[in-house]
Amino acid sequence: MPIANCKRCQRIFNKTRRDICPDCIAEEDAAFVAVRAYLREHKDATMAQVTEDTEVEIGIIISLIQDGRLILRDNPNLTYPCARCGAPTQAGRYCADCAKELTHELSVARTRLQKDGQGDAKRIGFYSKP
Ligand SMILES: [Zn+2]
Ligand SMILES: [Zn+2]
Repeated sequence: MPIANCKRCQRIFNKTRRDICPDCIAEEDAAFVAVRAYLREHKDATMAQVTEDTEVEIGIIISLIQDGRLILRDNPNLTYPCARCGAPTQAGRYCADCAKELTHELSVARTRLQKDGQGDAKRIGFYSKP
């Protein structure tokens, strides 16, 4: 059975389709339930309030949002910094502006590659979501 290092706690585990170990998955699931319930009650909560009241690590909350499990439609104050420019973001890795720019850069890169007639799939993949 293939093994891997857990992305979160670094422990070695039998690899599944997730890149974190079963313990961390359980922890993340519990965190998801707690944070979702909290946000339903506190629609104007900020990230600082959520982490303080639920005792869930900010990194877990962000990964739940980036994975698309936690949707912040009703929670306008809950934001985290864009991975590129640091602007407040509510979904994905990048703010709306950076997402737009990156999409533009990607299409420019694609056009350039098409002109060159040779592709570098790895470089293109850098811009797409993991
Ligand atoms: Zn783990
Ligand atoms: Zn940004």
